Amino acid sequence: MGAEKEENIDTEAELEEFAMHFEANRLDSFKDWPFLEDCSCVPQKLAEAGFYHIPSEQEPDAVRCFMCLKELDGWEPDDDPMSEHKKHAPKCPFIKHWKPEEEYTVTDFIKSIAERQQARVKRIAETKIKEFKQQAEEVRKQMELLA
Ligand SMILES: [Zn+2]
Repeated sequence: MGAEKEENIDTEAELEEFAMHFEANRLDSFKDWPFLEDCSCVPQKLAEAGFYHIPSEQEPDAVRCFMCLKELDGWEPDDDPMSEHKKHAPKCPFIKHWKPEEEYTVTDFIKSIAERQQARVKRIAETKIKEFKQQAEEVRKQMELLA
């Protein structure tokens, strides 16, 4: 057996991401958001719609949903965060069962933690399947070269 790759779990990053369950923390992430006044996609509405800010140099307006992990960028001032979320991630449990955070019960909250875990596992599985398919494609190409 070869050496197994060790999977590092970054606890701090996990906790930071988990904190995004709360609207106030999501809102805090929008420190350098480019759209503020006279726009539909203002930080308050983005946070309400489940998004937090994950800016990069190439995509300064990239956001991610804490629940389904969908990432969106290229916002226009008139874009409505809730409608965009519905359009690009119609199966997101947060959007499907949306209600104001102050109306959440403990049961709702526990349910949403479970749903988020499911979404994460699904995303990891999808990434692994994609990697496997790419590797299989590579092997096939090499075999064709040998034939
Ligand atoms: Zn979502």
